Amino acid sequence: HTSVEYQPFRKCFYTPIPEIANMSSEEVQIVRRQLDNIKVKGKKAPRPVKTWAQTGLHLKTIDTLKRCGFNTPTPIQAQAVVTILSGLNLIGIAKTGSGKTLAYGLPLIRHVADQDVLQPGDGPIAIIMTPTRELCYQVTNEIRKFARLFGLKVVCIHGGSPISEHIAELKKGAEIIVCTPGRMIDMLAANNGRVTNLRRVTFIAIDEADRMFDMGFEPQVMRIFDNSRPDRQAVLFSATFPRQMEALARRILGQPIEIQVGGKNIVCSDVEQHVFVIQENQKFLKLLELLGIYGEKGSSLVFVDTQEHADDLLKGLLRHSYPCMALHGGIDQYDRDSIFNDFKNGDIRLLVSTSLAARGLDVRDLYLVVNYDCPNHYEDYVHRCGRTGRAGNKGNAFTFICPGQEKYAIHLMDALKSSDRPVPQQLEAMADSYLSKLNEQGKSHNRFNGFGGHGFSFNKSESVNYQ
Ligand code: ADP
Ligand code: MG
Repeated sequence: HTSVEYQPFRKCFYTPIPEIANMSSEEVQIVRRQLDNIKVKGKKAPRPVKTWAQTGLHLKTIDTLKRCGFNTPTPIQAQAVVTILSGLNLIGIAKTGSGKTLAYGLPLIRHVADQDVLQPGDGPIAIIMTPTRELCYQVTNEIRKFARLFGLKVVCIHGGSPISEHIAELKKGAEIIVCTPGRMIDMLAANNGRVTNLRRVTFIAIDEADRMFDMGFEPQVMRIFDNSRPDRQAVLFSATFPRQMEALARRILGQPIEIQVGGKNIVCSDVEQHVFVIQENQKFLKLLELLGIYGEKGSSLVFVDTQEHADDLLKGLLRHSYPCMALHGGIDQYDRDSIFNDFKNGDIRLLVSTSLAARGLDVRDLYLVVNYDCPNHYEDYVHRCGRTGRAGNKGNAFTFICPGQEKYAIHLMDALKSSDRPVPQQLEAMADSYLSKLNEQGKSHNRFNGFGGHGFSFNKSESVNYQ
């Protein structure tokens, strides 16, 4: 590659609008969770968008999307389109039918449309590789609707039709090639490389990468990558991301952003979830009431947020003649192990614990979990509730949230909704009030200093990257 002088090219086409740029990192987290639990690895990834207009794609593209009935981006599209438009390499994992084709197709077309028109003898600007002929057709058809708007030609190259047809088509010139890797290599070799070449390729997409590697196309894919200019942009999409694909993905993508959609962590349906909006000073009585109802049936686990609260609650329960123990990071390891075991074996039936200490705890006959102090994030809630309702047994999880703890309400509400449970009206009101407070904050002050206090802060490094 050092001997070839490549034309410079642009790959960044995205600047977030202020509404997106000003989102706090907590809002970003909430939006991603609501978008089918998008998980993003890689610091430079932009925030997800909610509408097509926010992607900055051309108006005619957006009009066509709407005409197709694609009114809003799917979750993978909401995150991947702007990531690719930012010029970043990407691994996108999402289940079939989630709209992956346009997630890379739209930014690919934007990328290609930015470049000078092809001269005679030029090869394609973008290549999309898929494992099968059927997929080639399908992707070609989907992409063509949008490529046409910019006068771009898409050619479909696969092992199923006579090579002479492909040669004739390619000689006319095409900006975008959708291909199976084997046939693409044949085309590159045909007529001593006079049919087509990789010199102008600045964008490569691999679709259905898992199947591609299952079918043994790895060497061909690598060959195409190795023969394209090293500064090209590349993206890989797949329904799964098997381990053996990892090393290869790094080799062709460098340090890509990773986006994974779905596989949302939710509370198991065997757990009945209840949320009480309750005053701090009424929590203890409510707990006693719950222990009266459920405590007889089996073991009970009560979560608090700090070591002090664990010790305080333990004293309170002992005063009311409930035999119980406390587990937290302040207790020395030897005692912790023995308490842990006693609880597991059923020798102690009531345990007060912090989240940390109960990690991984698997107790038979645990019928009651009480979140005495409200969990401060979604995963913690799901994890705590997951201590009960195990191995097909039914369980009950009760969560106390106090007026003033609005910022936790949204997590509880999301968790209830994700597991199709009704959301108490009071809780929804708390969540709404928190969200509108966040919105106001974003609009009235153009500042990122959040609300202060713990559990909420704007990550300054992020705001620098994406203003
Ligand atoms: P995948 O590659 O993830 O299996 P596809 O890209 O084939 O999914 O898309 C699945 C279907 O969803 C296609 O029929 C496609 O036209 C449609 N589709 C794509 N994007 C959207 C959208 N934003 N809204 C609604 N339907 C969409
Ligand atoms: Mg697909």
